[in-house]
Amino acid sequence: MRARLDVDLDAFAANLQRIRETVAPAQHMLVVKDDAYGHGLSMIVPRAVACGLGWFGTFDVSTALAVREAAGPAPRVLAWTIYDDTDIDDAVAGGIELGVGDDGLLDDVARRARATGSPARVHLKIDTGLHRNGIRPEGWAATVARARGYEAEGLLSLDGVWSHIAEASDEEDDAARAVFMQASAALEDAPVLRHLAASAAAFARPEFRFDLVRIGAFAYGIRPAGGPSDQALGIRPIATLVAEVVAVADGAAVVDVGSVDGLDSRLAGRLSAATPAGPREIVGIDAFTTRIRLWDGARLGDEVALLGGRAPSTATDAAELLGTIGEQILLRISPRVPRRYR
Ligand SMILES: *Cc1c(COP(=O)(O)O)cnc(C)c1O
Repeated sequence: MRARLDVDLDAFAANLQRIRETVAPAQHMLVVKDDAYGHGLSMIVPRAVACGLGWFGTFDVSTALAVREAAGPAPRVLAWTIYDDTDIDDAVAGGIELGVGDDGLLDDVARRARATGSPARVHLKIDTGLHRNGIRPEGWAATVARARGYEAEGLLSLDGVWSHIAEASDEEDDAARAVFMQASAALEDAPVLRHLAASAAAFARPEFRFDLVRIGAFAYGIRPAGGPSDQALGIRPIATLVAEVVAVADGAAVVDVGSVDGLDSRLAGRLSAATPAGPREIVGIDAFTTRIRLWDGARLGDEVALLGGRAPSTATDAAELLGTIGEQILLRISPRVPRRYR
């Protein structure tokens, strides 16, 4: 296909720098779930390491192991979705730290350490209201005591306490933070790393930063739908969807990307593309092609930028038209669209 997703690694580095300055002295854990939000983990991770990133975060252990492979031995890597004993063993062997949000998993981690002789590094998760997983506040003291007991036996080290917040309303987030503060106070005898915020709260609310912030979206230049502008945040989108003109017909330039590749057909008539002659309306999005209002001198092989950093509209701009979030727009771009790094 004659289309690609251009990923600008210098823009990525600039976003990382912006995050570092904003959240300091808290550290930045770069969240790279979903293949680095569709940008390609194998290129994103080494660049982040070169920029001095010391922490990475993923859902699953297999992604965490891919991060370890790409990042080398030094950075710390946390995975927070652990399915079974194999995950536990693989994580510990690969130097991956485990987010643990229930007592059963805590016991499993200790049992595997007893069997293998290798202690795990554990970050305990308190449920601060999202109810996704996490230890309920009423059970927290008992779980901490249990974890400390395993620690005394040399089966694990308790390295962190964390939670995830909705970042939908300040009131809810404040209530979650109060629960989180109480939970961390229970660990004050031997302090551990505390992490609570993702992109939005880490930027807007200093009191949510604690020791570490887990940021994905802003690192890739994805601003929140309905939230502050890229300029206000000081970030920019690092990806641009680019396609070549493969036909000129009926007053339109036809480019080689379509809804099957992840460009939502409902965006037709609502966005412009950057063409060699300036912005032109996207008039139709079909399964395999997209039609753009013709410009003077359009030629086969001309490139247009449809969406992203070098296009008139970003992923979040498109998301706002469709009632979704920028991450979803990017994750829909098919893996068959090649990524190109510059
Ligand atoms: C995805 C995720 C993040 C990062 O959120 P962004 O809004 O992309 O910065 C942080 N923590 C957890 C648990 C996540 O799942």
